Amino acid sequence: MQTVIETKGLCKAYGKQLAVNHVQLHVPQGCVYGFIGPNGAGKSTTMKMLLGLIHPSAGQVFLLGRELTEKNRLALLRQTGSLIESPSGYLHLTAQENLRIVADLKGVPHKDIDRVLDIVHLTGDRNRKVGQYSLGMKQRLGIAMALLGNPKLLILDEPTNGLDPAGIQEMRALLAGMPAATGATVLVSSHLLGEMEQLVEQVGIINQGKMLFEGSLRELQRHSKGSLTLRVLHPQKALAVLQTNGVAAQLKENFLTLPPLWDDLVAGLVQALANSGAGVVELTRHTKSLEEIFLSLTETKGVV
Ligand code: ADP
Repeated sequence: MQTVIETKGLCKAYGKQLAVNHVQLHVPQGCVYGFIGPNGAGKSTTMKMLLGLIHPSAGQVFLLGRELTEKNRLALLRQTGSLIESPSGYLHLTAQENLRIVADLKGVPHKDIDRVLDIVHLTGDRNRKVGQYSLGMKQRLGIAMALLGNPKLLILDEPTNGLDPAGIQEMRALLAGMPAATGATVLVSSHLLGEMEQLVEQVGIINQGKMLFEGSLRELQRHSKGSLTLRVLHPQKALAVLQTNGVAAQLKENFLTLPPLWDDLVAGLVQALANSGAGVVELTRHTKSLEEIFLSLTETKGVV
């Protein structure tokens, strides 16, 4: 599979601080890639370098297989749509009028406006003034602007910021369907892992300018799975089953604490425990917070 965004040793220094510290991104074609990290981690700075809005202190950016340089920047960015700052658009104009202005700037025919309005579900509101839009609608209009000209790549910085739960849900559904609807690869940043978990296939985790993890969501979940608590009627029978299956467990009263395990293994264990007559009453998985995942990633020094 082609890598549509790649960075090599990307750095940005502000004074003595390395806001982006040797970041290596690999975004495969056709996916939704979640770029996740707390506020101040370096997400926006990285994205701005991908778009040539700020100069890297060191390192290289490759978009669509070509190195981003002063010479080919415009050609590459013509194939890229972005939403970096909060939603743009003239409030006293309608969505349609705003899109016409952007289409003219991009040299895109006006007929493309119908397509992008349809994708972001704003066709019915196209003739309303943007000043009357909710924040969610403004964000979707921003994405419609980014989609004009059918870019191969979409770079969206925290598009769910400030949205209410319904708006977040809508944005998630919109982005999840984006590769199928438009063929574009989506790089989307967020400071909320939970929000991204239901949306992205690939993730990059950044903290204090450094990538701690890059890979599939499944691999990240290996890090983020918490321990399990099992309550049974007959702990000794349960302990024997766990031992046979090579699972270390700690017993305290009728509660057994198990290490993080894959779902398949858990399902098999529950079956074996039931067959043994241990009497399974309760099984709880403790989910790790983003903070704990960061911590476990830092402890293992990441798996980039
Ligand atoms: P994020 O998008 O993950 O919230 P940013 O990329 O905006 O993080 O910021 C990363 C770090 O770089 C922060 O510590 C921030 O204060 C610093 N930073 C960002 N832009 C500038 C700037 N123009 N001048 C100085 N420091 C900056």
